[in-house]
Amino acid sequence: MEILAKCSTCDAGLPVHAGDAPAAIKCGGCGREIPLTISESVRTDSAVDRCPICNGADFYIRKDFDPKLGLTVVIIGALISAGFYWFGRDLIAYSILASAALIDLIVYGRLRDVTVCYRCHSEFRGAYERRAPAFDLHTADVLELEYERRIGRR
Ligand SMILES: [Zn+2]
Ligand SMILES: [Zn+2]
Repeated sequence: MEILAKCSTCDAGLPVHAGDAPAAIKCGGCGREIPLTISESVRTDSAVDRCPICNGADFYIRKDFDPKLGLTVVIIGALISAGFYWFGRDLIAYSILASAALIDLIVYGRLRDVTVCYRCHSEFRGAYERRAPAFDLHTADVLELEYERRIGRR
């Protein structure tokens, strides 16, 4: 399993292999030591049961999608279709726009789920069975506040 540990001080993302993770990692952004408590399930890639960074046990699932990439496809499609529209080829313009949206949908549908920790926003990718529920705003509000109080950000 691959972990993207989020530094609680500067929000940098630090990639960690769960299989051979050290007891602590040092943040490349701010130099903070982040202790890791990797559970047996996380180490063996069977489940995400406990967050190695914040020790929380609440996670949600989201599509592993880079919004910037999707937006680029739509913008490029829109630009090309605007060009055709300018020259009075409406039909071509609309079909290019439609196919850009379609490409987006296909890319989105093929993406795998990523598990995210509600508290520290660390991300987990691997072959394990996805068991976490979808994102819930209320849960996120409660848990993030609790975590930020604990680490002294609020
Ligand atoms: Zn940092
Ligand atoms: Zn966490």
